Amino acid sequence: MKITSRLPVEAYVEGILSGDRVILSRAITLVESTLPQDQFLAENVVEKILPYSGKSIRIGITGVPGVGKSTFIEGFGKLLVEKGYKLAVLTIDPSSQKSHGSILGDKTRMEKLSSDKRAYIRPSPAGVSLGGVSAKTREAMLLCEAAGFNIILIETVGVGQSEIAVKGMVDFFLLLMLAGAGDELQGIKKGIIEMCDALVINKADGENITAAKKAKREYTNALHLFPVKENGWNPKVLTCSAIDQIGLSEIWQMIEGFVDQMKRINYLDINRSNQLENWLHDHIGYLLKSSFYENEEIKSSLTKNLSEIKAGKKSPIGLARELVEAFIDGISRK
Ligand code: GDP
Repeated sequence: MKITSRLPVEAYVEGILSGDRVILSRAITLVESTLPQDQFLAENVVEKILPYSGKSIRIGITGVPGVGKSTFIEGFGKLLVEKGYKLAVLTIDPSSQKSHGSILGDKTRMEKLSSDKRAYIRPSPAGVSLGGVSAKTREAMLLCEAAGFNIILIETVGVGQSEIAVKGMVDFFLLLMLAGAGDELQGIKKGIIEMCDALVINKADGENITAAKKAKREYTNALHLFPVKENGWNPKVLTCSAIDQIGLSEIWQMIEGFVDQMKRINYLDINRSNQLENWLHDHIGYLLKSSFYENEEIKSSLTKNLSEIKAGKKSPIGLARELVEAFIDGISRK
C-alpha cells in the first residue's frame, strides 16, 4: 500500500523518537518528496529531530557493481547487530534515477539483513537529481539517528559523484575493491582512493587469496604516496571475504580504532562541523535549483528555447543568464 497521507509534525517527531519504524519510513518518504507542500513539513520534522541526531558512527561504503557491496553489508551488518548495535543501511544509486535499471539491483539485495529486526534498510529514492538524492540521504540519516540507530551505513556505487556527496556526510569512508583487476578496470578514480579511510580487498577466498594478499601489499605501498591526511589517519588496507565472513571483525576493529583516535583529537566533531557548513551550502543550492526549475515561467521558456539550443542556434550561456536574471527579477517583483 502506498501511503500518501501526511501526519502532523508532532506525530512524526514522537514516532521517530520512540523508534517507531513505520513512522520513520513515512518520515523518510516525506523528506524524499519533491512536492512543494511536503517540503515545509519535512523541514519542520528534520529541524525538530536535529537535536536528537548525531549519536551514531556514520560509515560510507562504495565500490563498483559486482565487488560485493551487498554481500559485505549482509555479513558486516550481521556482525554489528550481533554486537548489539542498531544498524540502519541507506543506499544511494545514481543510476536508478536516470534509467529504470539500477546498478545496485533491486529487491533481492541484503535479504537476510532486511528481515532482521535489529537492522533497517532503506534504498535511495527514485526520480530526483543526484544533488537531491544526497540531500535526502543526509536527512534520512538524521531521522534514523533520532530513531535510535547508532551505526549508519551509506552505500553507493563507486562510479562517480555520489562518493563525494557521501564522503561529505560520513565519519568513515570505506572503498571495496577486487584483487587482480586494475584500478582503471574497476572504474575507480584516483580521487576516490584519496578520499577513503580504508581500502578493503574483497573476495579474498579460494584461489583468490594470493592475489588479494599481493594487492594488499601494492595498495599499502601506493597509499604511502598520497599526502598525509589532515586528521593524521593513515588509510588502512585490509582483505576480506564477505561471502565467507572472514576478516569482517578486523574491519570493525579498525573502524573502532579510527573513532578512538579521532575522538582523542576531537576530529569527529571538527569534521561534522565542517560538514554542517557544507550542508548549508548544499541546501541553499538545492532550494535555489528546485525553485528555479519549478517556476512556471522558467519551465515554459526552457521548453520554448530548447530546440534552438540543441540546434546550436542559441547560446546556452546566453539563455542561462537570461533565465536566471528573469527568475531573480520575478522574485524581487514579488
Ligand atoms: P555488489 O554489486 O557490489 O552489491 O555485489 P554483490 O554483493 O551483489 O556481489 C556480486 C557477486 O560477487 C555475487 O555473485 C556474490 O555472491 C559474489 N561475492 C560477493 N562477495 C564475495 C566474496 O567475498 N567472495 C566471493 N568468492 N564472491 C563474492
